[in-house]
Amino acid sequence: MTDVPVVALSGVTKFFGGTPAVAGVDLEVRAGELLCLLGPSGCGKTTLLRLIGGFEQPTTGTIAINGTDVTRVPPHRRTVNTVFQSYALFPHLSVAENVAFGLRQPHPGRPRLTRAQVAERVREALALVRLTGLADRAPRTLSGGQAQRVALARAIVNEPDVLLLDEPLSALDRSLREQVQVELKLLQRRLGITFVLVTHDQDEAFALSDRIAVLRDGRIEQLGTPQEVYERPATAFVAGFTGTQHRTDGTVSDDGTVTSGDGVTFRPSPAELRPFAAGDRVTLTVRAEAIRVSATRPALTANVRPGVLAGSSFLGSVVQHVVVAGGQEVLARVPAGTAGDGGTAAPAEPLVPGAPAWCSWQDDAVRVYPAEHDSAANQPRAGATQTPEASTAASAPQGPGSAAEPCGDPGGDLAAGHITNEEAA
Ligand code: ATP
Repeated sequence: MTDVPVVALSGVTKFFGGTPAVAGVDLEVRAGELLCLLGPSGCGKTTLLRLIGGFEQPTTGTIAINGTDVTRVPPHRRTVNTVFQSYALFPHLSVAENVAFGLRQPHPGRPRLTRAQVAERVREALALVRLTGLADRAPRTLSGGQAQRVALARAIVNEPDVLLLDEPLSALDRSLREQVQVELKLLQRRLGITFVLVTHDQDEAFALSDRIAVLRDGRIEQLGTPQEVYERPATAFVAGFTGTQHRTDGTVSDDGTVTSGDGVTFRPSPAELRPFAAGDRVTLTVRAEAIRVSATRPALTANVRPGVLAGSSFLGSVVQHVVVAGGQEVLARVPAGTAGDGGTAAPAEPLVPGAPAWCSWQDDAVRVYPAEHDSAANQPRAGATQTPEASTAASAPQGPGSAAEPCGDPGGDLAAGHITNEEAA
């Protein structure tokens, strides 16, 4: 992987009517990386992907691919392919013919391939997605995972600079999704193609990404590696979206603690509290994995919240305890097979649903952000990872265009792409 940006967005906005779906995005995607656009429904992920693919035009701003401004260039003239959520294949064509379709289209700048060259490229693409034996099968005879791999093969066969994937695994069940995630990551590594993938699933983003862009209301709230985003969420929103949190508002005291609205004393690390002064209103978060639960009060002077155990559920590798405290449910996750305290000490008494329970956590588990109702709440704090980089892309010639989706495309991409519904029917 290099630091040369393959895709560079600069000041990109997209309005639908008077409403911004994308609200001023600067983003550079590096060559060979897998970047996930992660965020809740409606935050603008798909619109951003469609802007990169050329299926939408930005209201303002520019988009460059390999250093060439493609802001007004149609999808089929960009060196970008897209795999849509509904990976629809041509039902009347075999697997191999589906994959070959993109190659058979005339592309400016690429000589027409011979029949033998097409066959060889298709064979290679199917081998890459481990479908060699299924070349002659009809799409209707494939499993969901196999159909998804055909869609991938079709998208990679003409070697795009960038592959855009819109929730490509959402139609697959959980176990298959995890398997295809691994395959997708290995495939991306082998091909060295830059992937931009949209997902609302934080686990998927963490499993796949080299970097994650967390979006909120059309803006990038944080851009960083999975580890950076998980360990140093830039805002309370990112913290909440990338993990289950105990979250509360409070006021900074002059003794290095924060008192929540319902009187619980939090003691963050001094570094965490440094940007704030006594009297500041803040939002506090603690991850569910950092919370211990005990049936007796721990001997701590801060970071203890009393409540009542509502219940415990076995989630496989972890047990989740739900404690009702201060008018809210606090979730604590401890490794299965350990006590409620995560194995650090045996609880004096067993945890009993309906009985008093104490949640507690270490100082360094507490994150502090400007209070969410504060106008500064959406701004990353000093020192947090937030690097929407400037648009400086290396120069490279424009290559062959993209294979647009043939059907199952409610967004109207086909009208913009060079494969039409008529062709797909
Ligand atoms: P989801 O995860 O639900 O697909 P998303 O993060 O991908 O959401 P977008 O599909 O990009 O979000 O939509 C962002 C906002 O723009 C939403 O409020 C959506 O209703 C709006 N929007 C998207 N496309 C259009 C359109 N063609 N016309 C009008 N509004 C649109």
